[in-house]
Amino acid sequence: MRLEGSCHCGAVKFSVDSHTPYPYMRCYCSICRKTQGGGGYAINIMGEARTLAVRGAKHLSVYRARVAEAGSKRRKLSPARRHFCAKCGSALWVADPRWAQWVYPFASAIDTPLPTPREHVEIMLDFAAPWAEVPQGRGHTHYAEYPEEGIADWHRARGLEVA
Ligand SMILES: [Zn+2]
Repeated sequence: MRLEGSCHCGAVKFSVDSHTPYPYMRCYCSICRKTQGGGGYAINIMGEARTLAVRGAKHLSVYRARVAEAGSKRRKLSPARRHFCAKCGSALWVADPRWAQWVYPFASAIDTPLPTPREHVEIMLDFAAPWAEVPQGRGHTHYAEYPEEGIADWHRARGLEVA
């Protein structure tokens, strides 16, 4: 399906095709929380990078976080590029050269009605803010860090890939 997205002030608009549009995964890591996640988390979905079309690209800014390396105190520039509107601050999508085939729009930036997931995955809970209320119980799967099952795998395993 074609997803249309925009920032709040309207300076940036984009569209991207996605077979994996269910906004089921909530990331509680500090980067998502600080840069986008007012509720303590952010939700990224996944689209095909080659179909990404952007209007107002001159208003884009890109943030690359510094992240701690495993077993070290050094912090390294993350390859992930978080695109946001420099005028209004809306988080728009993440692009990462390690997975160059895909872009990861924030569900919050998408204007097209997204399908409603019947279950959710809460991830990076080792980094969740203490005040963040993480939903529990049936339909919620929790991960301390990042799950093995990626966004495409999740959709495929449940027969939810969209044409
Ligand atoms: Zn804007």
